[in-house]
Amino acid sequence: MLGAGIAGMLAATAVARHLDGVTVIDRDRLPDGPVPRPGVPQANHVHALLSGGARAIDALLPGTLDRLWAAGAHRIALPADMIALTPQGWWRRFSEMQFLVGCSRHLLDWAVRDQALRDDRISVLSAAEVRGLAGTADRVTGAIVRDRDSAAERVIHADLVIDATGRGSKAAGWLAGLGLPAVPEELVDPGLAYASRMFRVPDGCAAGFPHITVQMVPGTGLPGTGGALLPIEDGRWLITLAGTRSAEPPAGEHEFEPFARRLRHPVIADMIRAAAPIGPVHGFRSTANRRRHFAKMPVWPEGLVVLGDALCTFNPVYGHGMSVAAQSAALLADELGGDGLRPGTARRVQRAVDGVAAAAWMMATGQDARYPQTLARRPAVAARVFQRYVDRMMRTAGSRPEVAAPMLAAFTLSGSFGRLLSPDVVLATLRGPAGQPLAGPPFTRRERAQLGDPYSDPSSAG
Ligand SMILES: Cc1cc2nc3c(=O)[nH]c(=O)nc-3n(C[C@H](O)[C@H](O)[C@H](O)COP(=O)(O)OP(=O)(O)OC[C@H]3O[C@@H](n4cnc5c(N)ncnc54)[C@H](O)[C@@H]3O)c2cc1C
Repeated sequence: MLGAGIAGMLAATAVARHLDGVTVIDRDRLPDGPVPRPGVPQANHVHALLSGGARAIDALLPGTLDRLWAAGAHRIALPADMIALTPQGWWRRFSEMQFLVGCSRHLLDWAVRDQALRDDRISVLSAAEVRGLAGTADRVTGAIVRDRDSAAERVIHADLVIDATGRGSKAAGWLAGLGLPAVPEELVDPGLAYASRMFRVPDGCAAGFPHITVQMVPGTGLPGTGGALLPIEDGRWLITLAGTRSAEPPAGEHEFEPFARRLRHPVIADMIRAAAPIGPVHGFRSTANRRRHFAKMPVWPEGLVVLGDALCTFNPVYGHGMSVAAQSAALLADELGGDGLRPGTARRVQRAVDGVAAAAWMMATGQDARYPQTLARRPAVAARVFQRYVDRMMRTAGSRPEVAAPMLAAFTLSGSFGRLLSPDVVLATLRGPAGQPLAGPPFTRRERAQLGDPYSDPSSAG
């Protein structure tokens, strides 16, 4: 297994069930606790684990969710515990339909890794950088690995090599080195930048405080800006601000709150003002949607699978990457559980994991192609028509639970995308929103009391 990130550890769990043993190779020295490490720089930013991914993780590694709750992760019911200003307006807080896990990415990675390593068929080789693949164009037989201390290189042989080295994966180049043709690649890049900062929760707001998002609006002819507040363990809020090309959030501490105040609603800026910062502002810019079509290669070597971000990255505002990685690992377990590793297994798995990424890819790129400075091909007419339907569905979902439920199921990768086109959902969507739109963030009475001014006045409620 190449890479000990979330995709690598979950895939290692899946493989260990069906093959002899797994060696997970990572260039980092893996910490024994929920702390930052260089190999996962995106971990400083809001990482929402959606219910579709959370269930897949818990099925592969039973007890992981309980462990996260015990470590202080928040179970955020959707949409009950969510204050969301979508492009179409504020969502009502219907009772729970799905959920997300609110915790730091550091905690999540560590919990998954520690759970996985309870299986003594899995071992880790750390401080070891993968430099290439061993084998031929017909069969990959191992990985070329350099020890970071001694700089010595050696080949580690394996029946199955899985590349889970994340967004910086060199798999396409390694395959070219074995004599395979170029890997077709698709890029939809709205030039999104992130800036994030950690805060200590103000007195009284720790328990049950909602997740807040002010979402970007595509299709206006202007760049998008947005933000999110995620309650995480240890009485902290992680706040991320984001903007597409030419509206990027600044990396400076003094500009953080002013940027948040210029969003479509100042609710996140108000939270920033109420809370105390406990760390610097971290920036991140490598956020493009990039899909490497390994499944479309005319030939594919036995013994190689590519998954996680190494296969496909998504604009992070949609929060799909970890869930797609988890569901891909679940699928790998199913495939190996059938016939084990046989001729053609690697290609079949590669096609299957590509299919897991497809729905999230469609959701992200459908939206992102509508920002004016996105680098992408113009979407086909059918995709543009479908997007208009999705817009109307979003507008309706905020006030109609019968549309909100299938929509949240699809969005959290918990239900089928096809359900969005079933007659009852289409009909309810065509009926449009119910009642008056909300005028402001729908905080509960208790949350208003916690927050004080400017939210203590119930007339500011939606
Ligand atoms: C700013 C940002 C915010 C995000 N927010 C969300 C979110 O809210 N929800 C969500 O689901 N997803 C989110 N994502 C996506 C999420 O981070 C990824 O989908 C997820 O990390 C993919 O896991 P992975 O294991 O494939 O890659 P990674 O987690 O990046 O792990 C890759 C591993 O490979 C190792 N490695 C790399 N190269 C080598 C090498 N040559 N040799 C050895 N080891 C190597 C690294 O050290 C690392 O351990 C976000 C991404 C970004 C950039």
